[in-house]
Amino acid sequence: MRTDATHDPALQSWVASANGEGTDFPIQNLPFGRFRRAGTQEPWRIGVAIGDQVLDLRAARDEGRWSAEVAAALAPLAAGDLNTFMGAGSAPRRAVRAALSQALAQGSPQQQALASCLLPQSGIELTVPCAIGDYTDFYTGIHHATTVGRLFRPDNPLLPNYQWVPIGYHGRSSSIVASGHPVRRPLGQAKAADAPQPSFGASQRLDYEVELGFLIGPGNPLGQPIAIGEAEEHLFGVTLFNDWSARDIQPWEYQPLGPFLSKNFGSTISPWVVTMEALAPFRAPLQRPAGSAQPLPYLDSQATREQGAIAVRLEAWLQTAAMRAAGEAPVRLSSARADEAAFWTPAQLVAHHTSGGCNLQPGDLFGSGTLSGPAPDQAGSLLELTSGGKEAIRLPNGETRSFLADGDTLILRGACERAGARRIGFGECAGTVLPALA
Ligand code: CA
Repeated sequence: MRTDATHDPALQSWVASANGEGTDFPIQNLPFGRFRRAGTQEPWRIGVAIGDQVLDLRAARDEGRWSAEVAAALAPLAAGDLNTFMGAGSAPRRAVRAALSQALAQGSPQQQALASCLLPQSGIELTVPCAIGDYTDFYTGIHHATTVGRLFRPDNPLLPNYQWVPIGYHGRSSSIVASGHPVRRPLGQAKAADAPQPSFGASQRLDYEVELGFLIGPGNPLGQPIAIGEAEEHLFGVTLFNDWSARDIQPWEYQPLGPFLSKNFGSTISPWVVTMEALAPFRAPLQRPAGSAQPLPYLDSQATREQGAIAVRLEAWLQTAAMRAAGEAPVRLSSARADEAAFWTPAQLVAHHTSGGCNLQPGDLFGSGTLSGPAPDQAGSLLELTSGGKEAIRLPNGETRSFLADGDTLILRGACERAGARRIGFGECAGTVLPALA
C-alpha cells in the first residue's frame, strides 16, 4: 500500500488534458487498456490512458528511452499481451509505472519522442482489457445482501453463513463485454408466484448491478492456496463491473445451486484497469456492522483489516431512449462508497477462493457483488431502489422505471477522492439494452 513520487498530487503532465480538474486519468492514475483505432480491424494494442489521450505502448517502447528493466517489462505490452504483464507481478508493474510517470511528467526530456505515440481517446475503440479466463462473482455488499434477502426471504434476510464465508459463484467469462457494447434482453424461464407453472419468454425484470471488478495478476499452482498475507500480490487492478441480472429468471432458478441464466447473458466491464499501485492512496479500513463475527484466521490479517478495502465512490446513471432523443443528459440513480458497502476485502476473496486449492490465472476476474450503501437511495440495483419493482422511480422527464426498458443506457462511474491525493477515476462502464429476440 505504499505511495511514492508517482502519487504526488502536485505532479503535472505535459499532456495538458491530464491536468484538468475533471479528468479521470491524471498522471497519478495511468490505467491500462486494450484499444485500436476506431473503425479498423487492426490488432488490439495495449495503451495507458492519460487525460483525453492514450499512450500506445508499442510505439512508446520503440520511440522512448527506457532502462533494460523497463524495456523488458514493456515487451509483452508492446506485443498487445496484457495477461503476461499481469502475471509478472508487482515489480515490473511498479517499474513501468515509475518510468511512464517520469516520461509523461512536465519537463520530461521524453516529451518530444512520446508525443507521437499519443492518440485521442475519441478516435479509438476499446475491448475487454485482457483475456478473462475465469470469472467469479462474489456477494460482498452486506446492505445489498440484506435488502435483497428480505425481498426473497422476508423472514430470513441474511443467511447465517454470510458472516463467515465470502459467498460467491463461478460465473461465465465468455459473455463479458467492454463498455459501449449493447446487451440484449434475455429470454428465459420464470414463474410468477400465483402461476401454476413457469413460462418461457423475454425477461420483464431486467436489472443492473453496480460492482467493482478485481483482476488477478500472478496466479497460483493447482493445490497451493494463497495465504491472506500474500493475497494482495496476486491482485493486478480494479475496474467497474455491471452484472446485468434478470430478476424474474433469478428467483425461480437460483435454488439450490445459485444464479445461472439470470446472470450469464451479458456483463459489462470498464475498459481501463486501474492498478493496485494507483489505488494505494485510497486504501481504507474494512468496515463491518457492530457485532459481526470475526473472520476465521485464514481470512484475517491486520493489513487487510486496516487497509484492505478500497475507497471508491460508485455511481449509476440512466439515460432512456426518450432522454437520448431529446438530448437530455443521463440522470444519476445512486451513489455509494465501496468501502462502506463491502463486508470482505479483495485479499479475503483471493484467500478464500484458493483456500481449497483452486488455481487462479492472470486475467481471472472477481466481481465484488453489488455494492449498495447503507441508505436506501445508495442502492446499486433497481431491485433495491424500487423495492422489488413495487415502487417505480420517476425520472425528471416524467418517465417511470421499475426495471430497465429497451433502449435504456445504464452507465457506471467511479472515482477515488481523498484530501492530500489527486482524484483518479475509472472512466465509464456503459451498456444499452437491446430488445429480446422475437
Ligand atoms: Ca452480482
